[in-house]
Amino acid sequence: MHFSNYQYTRPDVDALRKRFLVLTDSFETSANAESQMEIMQAINALRSEFETNYQLCSIRHSIDTRDAFYNAEQDFFDENLPQFEELTSIYYKALLHSQFRNAIESKFGKQLFRIAEMQMRVFIPEIMEELVQENKLSTAYQELIASALIPFDGSDKTLAEMVPYLRATDRNIREEASKARWDFFVTHEQEFDSIFDELVKTRNTIANKLGFKHFVEVGYLRMLRSDYTAGMVAEFREQILQQIVPLATELKSQQAKRLGLPSLKYFDEALLFKNGNADPKGSPEWIINNGKKMYAELSDETNAFFNFMLDHDLMDLEAKKGKAGGGYCTYISGYKSPFIFSNFNGTSADIDVLTHEVGHAFQVYMSRGFEVPEYYWPTSDAAEIHSMSMEYFAYPWMDHFFLEEADKYRYAHLVESLLFLPYGVAVDEFQHHIYEKPDLTPTERKTLWRNIEKKYLPLKDYDDNNYLNAGGFWQTQAHIYQSPFYYIDYTLAQMCAFQFWLKAQKNNTAALHDYVQLCKAGGSRSFLELVEYANLKSPFDKNVFGDIVVALRQYLKGVDEGKLN
Ligand code: ZN
Repeated sequence: MHFSNYQYTRPDVDALRKRFLVLTDSFETSANAESQMEIMQAINALRSEFETNYQLCSIRHSIDTRDAFYNAEQDFFDENLPQFEELTSIYYKALLHSQFRNAIESKFGKQLFRIAEMQMRVFIPEIMEELVQENKLSTAYQELIASALIPFDGSDKTLAEMVPYLRATDRNIREEASKARWDFFVTHEQEFDSIFDELVKTRNTIANKLGFKHFVEVGYLRMLRSDYTAGMVAEFREQILQQIVPLATELKSQQAKRLGLPSLKYFDEALLFKNGNADPKGSPEWIINNGKKMYAELSDETNAFFNFMLDHDLMDLEAKKGKAGGGYCTYISGYKSPFIFSNFNGTSADIDVLTHEVGHAFQVYMSRGFEVPEYYWPTSDAAEIHSMSMEYFAYPWMDHFFLEEADKYRYAHLVESLLFLPYGVAVDEFQHHIYEKPDLTPTERKTLWRNIEKKYLPLKDYDDNNYLNAGGFWQTQAHIYQSPFYYIDYTLAQMCAFQFWLKAQKNNTAALHDYVQLCKAGGSRSFLELVEYANLKSPFDKNVFGDIVVALRQYLKGVDEGKLN
């Protein structure tokens, strides 16, 4: 069956509520653990039915945000998701108070109860109105970004379609394209400011009603962080500042030298080599066929999985007008199907989708057998290990996609994943300040961002761009609007993915084995438990930084940049 035949039906929320409450009532009055576990199955089936329709709507809405039918359905979910959350919280409450908790825990493990506890702390019916408001604002941001049409090179371009121009070898094109892109943000600055201001205030109200001083703790609980604190994250950012920022700064200077420039302006940053970045050497169809070969050769598990994705048409990869920005992977539990969304634009980012999002999809495919839906995915700090590590396991096959430019791709990919770390922690630090001081004005927020940028990205040069000099850059970062406190997870996961990169060079079979085991474990354990289970060191362990920086420097020393340029 193809994705296009997956059946969408708008859920009947009242009927769902009735059926749900009958089940939770009988759960509470059950006489033994066995019957409670049977009722759990029935409850999870109901949750899956609702979730499946929500995912189908959300995917189809993001593929064409102008489609009137799914637009209306998305509005329906924005309005009704909090009611579903309330039902889930009723179930979690019953689960946590079960007199047979020990028996249930010995079957499913502790993690289910930790999740239930954390979710309970961030939901009370009194915040329903604010949750609806938060959903609407998040959708408003997504639609504003998707609406961007930038007149450039003879036609109107989406933000994704602008990407190739931003790394053109002709400096004038890069500069003009960059200015045209940022002009969209300048034109809509007030809308971006007011959406964000309302989001921050709404989230702050949610936190206060839940009994928290501000939204930071709520953010951590929503991300289901059970084994590290904001203090540990602050120390992690400090390690990045001390150990990674100097190396990243050196790499930026080297990039300027390769391009023959005294220093990099903001519109030069995306171009890594004077003769152009490495691009895939074929059409999207050719890329996917190469992907099929790669996953067939990588392992039996990846082969079966990738054929499943192709047979059911579970990837929507090409950029189109009206399509939401970015890329993601999600899971449609009713059809046991992962789904991958992206905006191919002819650059190496297309291959990163084919490894990164496929890494996520492979993990959820490997975890689809879990009886409790809480374990389909791990928390995102762990989930990003699956995706980022797959990017490294795919290195040997990059010759198929980039031909004579494969070394160039591998060098650029490694450098960019390193350069990402300072930016990633800057986003995180920004969000802590934003939610600790919810009353900052839009101008103060921008000044705050610019100061944090200067700390972690000291070489940023915005030339005469007033909007960026005033601190507007973050408005292009969807996570800051839509997924608060997600961003640090990429950097934590990156420090784990680098370990897989190192291990794969020493013993690829053993590294791949640990990786597949980690994927199979899904979300059945907490982040640091999963890290240990996969034989990785915790990213909060300061020694990890030393090991990785040494290895990266060694690799970079061995690369003849002149040959790549
Ligand atoms: Zn990801």
